[in-house]
Amino acid sequence: NSIPNEKYYTQESDLKFPEKRKKNTHKYDYGSVVIIAGSKGMSGAGILAIEGALKSGGGLVTCYVPQDIYMPVVARAPAEALIKTYDCNITFDDIKNDRKKVILVGPGIGRAKNYSFILEHLLEGSLPVVIDADGIHHLAVVGDALKESKTPVVITPHFAEFSKLIDVPREDILKDPIGYGQKFAMEYQVVVVLKGYRTMVFGTNGEIWFNSTGNPGMATGGSGDVLAGMIAGIAGQNVDLFEAARAGVYFHGKAGDYYADQFGESTLTAHSIITSLKHVLK
Ligand code: AMP
Ligand code: MG
Repeated sequence: NSIPNEKYYTQESDLKFPEKRKKNTHKYDYGSVVIIAGSKGMSGAGILAIEGALKSGGGLVTCYVPQDIYMPVVARAPAEALIKTYDCNITFDDIKNDRKKVILVGPGIGRAKNYSFILEHLLEGSLPVVIDADGIHHLAVVGDALKESKTPVVITPHFAEFSKLIDVPREDILKDPIGYGQKFAMEYQVVVVLKGYRTMVFGTNGEIWFNSTGNPGMATGGSGDVLAGMIAGIAGQNVDLFEAARAGVYFHGKAGDYYADQFGESTLTAHSIITSLKHVLK
């Protein structure tokens, strides 16, 4: 019962993304991504996730938002995205169709509503799921659904979110992030992206990758929403979730570094990451 616990720093050359596009292809070959995001007061989260997915090459992005923020989101979202509304009774069958490749749930959804219904449905479904932000908060309620889920899942908590999810004080996790991250990833068979200064990616077989890019300018509101969108956007392009997580984390940090090299860290915003992606994914 040997658990591999060597840790590695991600090198760009070992990433499985991006690949050169083949000539005779169309948008659905690059993934139809579904994003469930945003709530009143956090309507920007979905927009940032959409941009992260589109600018990582996602072929078609559909974002579901609550009815009460539909208008502001439509007005500010990229024209390339489809914006739809949903309520908490939405099921996996309502969302899926033959072309959908991956679902991201969580950025800005808030804690007020009961999202466990949606999460349970998504976990019982057959599409890979990326769970971020308050999606992780609601996940704590459906622990068994996560364990029983047969579909690939990645969660993207920062330390405080992870602390709440596993009910261990943040200070204890900080003493042994590798141990806690690896244990959760293996026990629940989900990819864990534990975000911070050196984001760690834990695979379901015990693999651990340390990210080598990024800077403290990225400690800014919306930065994580962009990352979640990127991971979903990359996963939609037939990249498995673990590889999509590694590549998303790496290029998210590299885009932040590209901006900081020119302009410094203090003016970096989530949008700076989005606009820098074209340079680092060239
Ligand atoms: P969130 O807290 O969900 O907005 O996510 C913040 C994002 O910014 C994550 O991808 C973090 O890894 C990244 N980030 C935050 N602080 C730092 C830091 N000091 N150095 C590098 N990356 C950071
Ligand atoms: Mg976040």
